[in-house]
Amino acid sequence: MGAGDVGSTHGFALAQSGLCEEIVFIDKNEDLANGQVLDLVHGQSFFPTVSIRTGNGKDYTDAQVIIITAGASQAKGETRLDLLKRNVGIMKSITRDIVHSGSEGVVIVVSNPVDVLTYVFLEESGWDRGRVIGSGTVLDSARFRYLLSKQCGVNVHNVHAYILGEHGDSEFAAWSMTHMGGIPWVEYCQICRKCDHCSDVRADIEQQVKDSAYHIIGYKGSTYFAVAMALIEIVEAVLRGQNSVLTVSVLLKGEFGLENVCLSVPCIVSDEGVKEIIVGHLNESEQQHLVHSSDIINRAIKEIKK
Ligand code: NAD
Repeated sequence: MGAGDVGSTHGFALAQSGLCEEIVFIDKNEDLANGQVLDLVHGQSFFPTVSIRTGNGKDYTDAQVIIITAGASQAKGETRLDLLKRNVGIMKSITRDIVHSGSEGVVIVVSNPVDVLTYVFLEESGWDRGRVIGSGTVLDSARFRYLLSKQCGVNVHNVHAYILGEHGDSEFAAWSMTHMGGIPWVEYCQICRKCDHCSDVRADIEQQVKDSAYHIIGYKGSTYFAVAMALIEIVEAVLRGQNSVLTVSVLLKGEFGLENVCLSVPCIVSDEGVKEIIVGHLNESEQQHLVHSSDIINRAIKEIKK
């Protein structure tokens, strides 16, 4: 993984999780990677035994999971599109290094825009779609579950709810899949009665999820704790072959009527990455939202190919 804010915070969480034997940081900023490693190894006596070191492209070869968190930040006067093109360049160069290493691991793309960059990795590598996962809306779904649990006074572990589509402004809550304690959301509202205008509360919660990153970035510059934990969930699913249902970004090939675009939909994630895409029923509005997300990502892909 990379050694920036997201990579290092994930490394910190991973070191404590006991999930792996070795953590290797690879970053263009070698001083930063060295510093993160030193800081982490000094905590060795407080967490399960794990080797932590810096590395290079050769370390991709036998890695079970490769987490791409490399990203450039916006330079003065640079447009979003220029930044996107620069990040596409970074992704292509990392992809070539990973392919060159002969890696058979699973790649998790985290760098934004994650859906576009997952697509770029797939196109550049030619790998099977299951092995290339975007962290997608795993984080957004966790934010959604948290907000629902607060609103309804139900433990977050008893809330099943998903944010689908683009990891970005066009993402949407799949209300038709939302369950509280095993009961569909609509029925649960009749029992819960904690709010007077459920539809307003629903819209507000959905908006809060979309605005989360903007708020956190406004307060402290970047987001890294929750995404680091969302990555633990994905890594654990792969390393333990857990068949976890996660809304990772995956290349669609006809599922939900969409072709050749990476989007977050419920997937079964296991030791070989995405094992299956769960093509459940979306209501008409949710399907329209998914198509809208797909249009946005396709437009971005066209832009970078110009
Ligand atoms: P950061 O600036 O702290 O870290 C980025 C790192 O990438 C830096 O350490 C930099 O040296 C490294 N880097 C740049 N070019 C490189 C290259 N060519 N090869 C190797 N390393 C290179 O940023 P961050 O806060 O850690 O965020 C990283 C990425 O994750 C961003 O794109 C951010 O938008 C994204 N992100 C995604 C989610 C999500 O849910 N998908 C959440 C938070 C952040």
